[in-house]
Amino acid sequence: MKNRPKIIDRILEGIRDSRTICVVGHVRPDGDCIGSQLGLTLALQNEGKKVWCWNEDIVPDKLAFLDPDKIVQKPRPGMEFDCVIATDAASFERLGKVGACINKRKLFINIDHHQSNTRYADINWISAKEPSSGEIIFRLLKSANWPITPAIADCLFTAVSTDTGSFQYPSTRPSTYNVAGELVKRGADLAKICDEVYQSYPLSRVKLLKHVYNNFRLTHGDQIAYFWLKKADFTRTGADTSDSEGLIDHIRAIEPVEVACLFEEMEPEMTRISLRSKNEKVNVNEIAALFNGGGHKAAAGARIPGPPLSVQRRVIAAIKKALDAAE
Ligand code: 5GP
Ligand code: MN
Repeated sequence: MKNRPKIIDRILEGIRDSRTICVVGHVRPDGDCIGSQLGLTLALQNEGKKVWCWNEDIVPDKLAFLDPDKIVQKPRPGMEFDCVIATDAASFERLGKVGACINKRKLFINIDHHQSNTRYADINWISAKEPSSGEIIFRLLKSANWPITPAIADCLFTAVSTDTGSFQYPSTRPSTYNVAGELVKRGADLAKICDEVYQSYPLSRVKLLKHVYNNFRLTHGDQIAYFWLKKADFTRTGADTSDSEGLIDHIRAIEPVEVACLFEEMEPEMTRISLRSKNEKVNVNEIAALFNGGGHKAAAGARIPGPPLSVQRRVIAAIKKALDAAE
């Protein structure tokens, strides 16, 4: 392929020279992370590499259809790799427990689309204009001329589709539709993916959503919406933490809301926040960065220690400040 970025050649050269490869992703993996990890793993296996695919967390139920052979495994200490490739992980810390198990490696490659990526590897292919890591992996596979099998197409379509909110977010580009079209041509099973990912939820998630609708709060002239998910809410509804994914979109969708925030109790003194912005001038990646988090302009997150109410006060104050500055 003509005029392709040198970074792709460097990555392909690193992969060519490697026999054992470990593909890793971020904690609490989403569709883009699992789709990118698995898509790349399957492609590398087809190229005759010995590949491990590690994540601190198990594959969420609604993505399990992508991994019938249980390729995604929890990390094991003490192993050596010619090459480790991280996908969709904005920082080394986001790899969680995987981080401590991949220090014996010759080459470390980081492929990601987060604006906040800290470029923690030897080779960093960070393209913040791409709406998903899946689209970058697709470009890598195409450049390498590696076959995109129907199983790989399923993984990459899921990655592209979930990180664009089904091609709705403004990050979606004309090329995103081309990539999606090409993946369908190569056998991505749209009906299966849509059914598994979007059209079926466990009852526990619906109960959690009911809790969200009953308990969300509005402030700052209805421009900020927020809600809490406590451990007790998960226990009471029978939901697990992966069931909370996407709940924030229901609150973000309320017409006057500009910024939505989820506060999730991880430990009594550790809160995970999820932020979404609908305002071009409010960059939630910058708000998350105030709390050592990161992400994208319109979607970001952080983990914040301290008493929950103080966390809430500080985060809401930061959002208000950003909204006031945007006026
Ligand atoms: P979500 O709110 O769906 O968990 O995440 C939204 C975006 O922010 C994702 O791209 C995710 O990778 C990023 N993100 C979420 N939590 C954190 C965090 O604690 N640290 C960093 N650096 N990024 C995060
Ligand atoms: Mn992503």
